[in-house]
Amino acid sequence: MLKDHLERPLSSLRISVIDACNFRCTYCMPVDKYGENYKFLPKNKLLTFSEIIRLIKVFVKLGVKKIKITGGEPLLRANICDFISSLSKIPGIEDISLTTNGYLLADKAQLLKEAGLHRVTISLDSLQPHNFQKIIGRKYSLEKVLQGISAAEQAQLFPIKINVVLIKNYNDKEILDIVKYFKKQHYAIRFIEYMDVGNVNGWQMQQVVTSKEILQKIEEEYPLVAHGLEYGEVADRYFHKDGIGEVNFISSVTKPFCSSCVRARVSAEGKLYTCLFATEGHDLKCLLNESDDEVHKYLSNIWKNRSDRYSEERSSTTKKNKVEMYHIGG
Ligand code: SAM
Ligand code: SF4
Ligand code: SF4
Repeated sequence: MLKDHLERPLSSLRISVIDACNFRCTYCMPVDKYGENYKFLPKNKLLTFSEIIRLIKVFVKLGVKKIKITGGEPLLRANICDFISSLSKIPGIEDISLTTNGYLLADKAQLLKEAGLHRVTISLDSLQPHNFQKIIGRKYSLEKVLQGISAAEQAQLFPIKINVVLIKNYNDKEILDIVKYFKKQHYAIRFIEYMDVGNVNGWQMQQVVTSKEILQKIEEEYPLVAHGLEYGEVADRYFHKDGIGEVNFISSVTKPFCSSCVRARVSAEGKLYTCLFATEGHDLKCLLNESDDEVHKYLSNIWKNRSDRYSEERSSTTKKNKVEMYHIGG
């Protein structure tokens, strides 16, 4: 089995299909930085779906079993359902999921399901319209995202995971409201610690609401049972004691999980990143004229030489020019 320098296999791939987004989340693309002037890739620079499918087939031969479709906002990419349909026909893939801000999901959930998507993760950081708009940097309707989530439920895109990023003095008063709202069968709320990804968000440690703080708050009202963190997964899982719903913690700042990081990431322009906090990607687009064997060899060499463990080294490094989250999709 292909393993990197730290004995980690390659079993999961996040593929970004677009870098553009209709939101301007304060922790990802803050409006005060470039406003509307974020520079996104022109359409002709995006990998085509057939190029992505070809690359994925090679990744599957290297051991990848789980594919996450992300962005930017993946539902902005035209013909996404056709892509998922081709993806779902590749033998060896066990899990196909998509992460979205949910704004365009209501009309697409059923079509995504029919195309072969297994499940969906929706990012939603607030249930208060004003707070929601402040965080996403847009005067958009929260209701539309909630309708998207209901549509995902109707389409049975289970389990439905709700990604929540808390930022001190923004939305950290909403923990219990969010837990209450999504305490349902087939749902998992995932509190992700605010991370120092990229350069534009001006991240500061004081803004991070730690998983420990969140867990303490939740346990004031809801008894939880610890399930734990499985190898290769990022979420430390807790179940509600009454068996209805679950709460997860992704603690990449306070409890890094680099030792079991089995994910590769490919950006919409076709760069391979072996860490979320990388500064450079490996260009795969220029490989597309080569044979599958050559692509296989190239990818396998990159993985074998991988030794990334940024989150474990965070306090002793001052990395600049890290790739932005909207380029590689989380
Ligand atoms: N646009 C889609 C969405 O928001 O779900 C997919 C791409 S987005 C980059 C993927 C995930 O990254 C989202 O759940 C978002 O909350 C998370 N994210 C973005 N910036 C982050 C940061 N600085 N720290 C923690 N999570 C972040
Ligand atoms: Fe867009 Fe997702 Fe980034 Fe928010 S987190 S700005 S929705 S890419
Ligand atoms: Fe993986 Fe890099 Fe995150 Fe560590 S910091 S878990 S190596 S993506």
